[in-house]
Amino acid sequence: MNKEAIIKRKTAEKYSGRKLRNIYRNAAVFCAALLAAVLAGTAALGAEIEPYTATDFAMDTVVSETLYTSGSDLTPEIGRLLRETEEKYLSWTDESSEVFQINQAERQTVQISEELAGYLEKALKLAEDSGGAFDPTMGKVIRLWDIGGENPHVPDEEELKRCLEETGYENLDLDGETAAIKSGADLDLGAVGKGIGCDLVMDYLKEQEQVFGMILNLGGSSVAVYGEKPDQSPWRVAVRDPEDGDSGYLAAVTLKGGEFLSTSGNYEKYFMEDGKRYHHIIDPKTGYPVWNGLTSVTVICDSGLLADGLSTACFVLGREDAVPLLEMYHAEAAFVDEDYNIYLTPGMKDRFELMKNTYTIKEAAG
Ligand code: ADP
Ligand code: MG
Repeated sequence: MNKEAIIKRKTAEKYSGRKLRNIYRNAAVFCAALLAAVLAGTAALGAEIEPYTATDFAMDTVVSETLYTSGSDLTPEIGRLLRETEEKYLSWTDESSEVFQINQAERQTVQISEELAGYLEKALKLAEDSGGAFDPTMGKVIRLWDIGGENPHVPDEEELKRCLEETGYENLDLDGETAAIKSGADLDLGAVGKGIGCDLVMDYLKEQEQVFGMILNLGGSSVAVYGEKPDQSPWRVAVRDPEDGDSGYLAAVTLKGGEFLSTSGNYEKYFMEDGKRYHHIIDPKTGYPVWNGLTSVTVICDSGLLADGLSTACFVLGREDAVPLLEMYHAEAAFVDEDYNIYLTPGMKDRFELMKNTYTIKEAAG
């Protein structure tokens, strides 16, 4: 069986119906984007460094990669790295993962790996710095909504209230390589998982001498860029148009090697009820999806985990309150709202190439 057939089979085992269609639609869209980015650089390439583009499936999403290398295809190794990270540390459904074990332990202290301790430390700091807009202890609240799951629905108000009372990052006790949740809350690292995956692949590539450059795209929302293209032309990443989820690109953003880009949007996972869009980014203060006029937030910074966590946090905070947080992390952002306005931080302006004339770029992000 060829690689594509194996990926299809594995995906089909795990997914069905609408979800599967969405995954393949996203795969097609992002492969096209990657291909476009690669084609732009291929003409001037030397003969010895050939790019290859591959897709895989890991971390519940489509992994697309383009590598400029004089060596072998690294797709199997990258896929293995991502799947292993999910299974060992991050998954909330896989009994073997450390997050699962912390959630199972219900208030007891659990021994964890140095790796997970490092991720949790960064996540806790981001939770504090964002005033709890990003909160890694939202597991039970997120499960109640089941957005993107089999049975998405508006939860019972009382039940939601009870869950919310137990939730809060201050209940997560981290002490070296031990962790405990002092309340009935559950960990959920869904808002930083793909970013962590991007960090790990970036570290792995640094050890691969034959690799010149790479662009890695997890599900279209988390991107890592490594090294350079042989012709030194800039890396360009497509950002999706929130109003045109199937095929539309809002913009192309220029990235340098070592940078990460993450987008959080209200179009990613949602259901509609009574004309209202219930999407997967939840305000920890209310327990409800965030309705603040934003449709997407894209963040660039020098860490995958932080780019991912910041895009979620900034979506929750809204444009004005997000700016000090972005400054604290030396990150840049683009905010898109439902009135087709785009607000860019100063460092984003030169990198952001608008591709849709239905949108207007406004002056300041603050
Ligand atoms: P995506 O997973 O589509 O890239 P995000 O990075 O924005 O999107 O993460 C959204 C996921 O994070 C949700 O599906 C949920 O699991 C979790 N989540 C939702 N709201 C919050 C929040 N306020 N803080 C932390 N995690 C959240
Ligand atoms: Mg995120």
